[in-house]
Amino acid sequence: MVRLQSYVLGAWHEGAAPFRSLIDPATEEVVAETSTSGIDYAAVMNHAREVGGPALRAMTFAERGAALKAISKALYAKREWLIEVAMANGGNTRGDAKFDVDGATGTLSYYAYLGKTLGDRTYLTDGDSEALIPGNARFHGLHIRVPKRGVAVHVNAFNFPAWGTFEKAAVALLAGVPVVSKPATATAWLAYEMTKIVVESGVLPAGAFQFIGGSCGDLLDNLTGQDILAFTGSANTAATLRAGKGPVSASTAVNIEADSLNSAVLGPDVQRGDDLYHWFINSVRLEMTQKAGQKCTAIRRVFVPEGMAEAVIEDLSEELGRIVIGDPRADGVRMGPLSDMSQLDDYREGVGQLAQEAAIVYGSPTEVEARGATPGKGAFVSPVLLHCTDPHGAEHVHAREVFGPVATVMPYDGTAGDVGALVARGGGSLVSSVATSDKKFLQALALDAAAWNGRLLLVDKKVSDTVTPHGMVLPSCVHGGPGRAGGGEELGGLRGLDLYLQRSALQGNVALLNKLFA
Ligand code: NAP
Repeated sequence: MVRLQSYVLGAWHEGAAPFRSLIDPATEEVVAETSTSGIDYAAVMNHAREVGGPALRAMTFAERGAALKAISKALYAKREWLIEVAMANGGNTRGDAKFDVDGATGTLSYYAYLGKTLGDRTYLTDGDSEALIPGNARFHGLHIRVPKRGVAVHVNAFNFPAWGTFEKAAVALLAGVPVVSKPATATAWLAYEMTKIVVESGVLPAGAFQFIGGSCGDLLDNLTGQDILAFTGSANTAATLRAGKGPVSASTAVNIEADSLNSAVLGPDVQRGDDLYHWFINSVRLEMTQKAGQKCTAIRRVFVPEGMAEAVIEDLSEELGRIVIGDPRADGVRMGPLSDMSQLDDYREGVGQLAQEAAIVYGSPTEVEARGATPGKGAFVSPVLLHCTDPHGAEHVHAREVFGPVATVMPYDGTAGDVGALVARGGGSLVSSVATSDKKFLQALALDAAAWNGRLLLVDKKVSDTVTPHGMVLPSCVHGGPGRAGGGEELGGLRGLDLYLQRSALQGNVALLNKLFA
């Protein structure tokens, strides 16, 4: 069994008993244990501020980018091992594990490329200088963005230990800000193995990346106004962290990526049997079952024109019936267990709540056949499809995120206005997708739903065979969503750097401004 350590103050730290067990959710066997006792978090933050920050700021964007490239390569070289760990501690199928691990290396690589394009600069400008007073051509203003002098504290969710850790780290490090990263304890083994590879690679300066291998004690009590807290996880934890001393009293920058009731909309023009219809059914099936539905971007609400619900339920049920559930190491298994035993209760309770206003039309929250599993063992669940006939009157289907393979089919009247109002009932989502070739419908719905979604995947018949999946987060597009989804924004190419940079307006002699800073 592995005992996780934390990487702090330039050395590996092993906590003392009591240890928290990390399990293989397919067998319930303990695969690792961890304790973070004895870490001096104030010293960790100071080490980042005083050692890591200055070293990163002395590097150009191109140099920081080169470091990210080297990390990506080092991780990729151990890809098979990392996939094995993700399967053992996350319940991931091989495909799920690749999605997480490759997401991490791909995002690092993308930001490495951006670093290269930014070249020998150490900070960014924001637009050109502008005259500030009419008739005075010499007095200008120029906005610049420089790295904050604090620490990027990253708190991640259990479902993407690889991607979550390194998509955040890539952006902060490129911006020139040192990182203290904390994965969710239940699945921390993968992030620990990746940190070992990063440390062994030796490409980052001392203090640039520290890792807390479990719960983080009073780390967050040390946040100041130059620090950044980037959190991914549940809305409840987000509310607690927002109310912390740093965010409330010192204006610590906070970015929250929380949960989300994402939608998929079938346009009124799409007929059963169309290519676009098949794309839609496959997309919902994929989003329900990939990573056993434990994706913040998974489709939870499926809106179809009145009269189409029966066909969609029948075809989706057929697709879901083909998904073999079981131990990810067993032949033919396409959906593994939930990541942790504690998620089982949440899934069952959540399905029970949805079933108060929607009928279960596929699967059961209490019965599942799991290939290769020991009877009675493991966090295995069945996909559950529900049908809610009164989405305007319903509450839970728009509010309860069941973090598992669960979605609800609901009718709308065929207009963009009606389905737009239903999408908005989610209170703010990470992503919604729309399948339609009706241009007017698409435009009206997109302009309405954009206010409620961080991202919209718009699929017409010309692109249905080439688009990336609904749930796939691309580093060049923003990830995050308003309201319920946390109100945060990550990635989006260079946009993501803004969280870690301070914008400052320099006012003065135009010639000096442009010579010294532009
Ligand atoms: P969670 O229970 O809120 O935990 C998230 C993280 O917060 C974990 O690292 C956890 O550490 C830590 N944490 C909890 N309480 C804390 C406290 N008082 N102080 C400091 N850290 C604290 O969420 P989860 O169950 O891991 O993740 C599932 C949720 O994340 C879902 O709702 C999902 O939608 C959401 N999610 C959102 C996104 C997105 O990008 N929007 C992505 C993935 C997941 P421990 O594990 O050590 O307790």
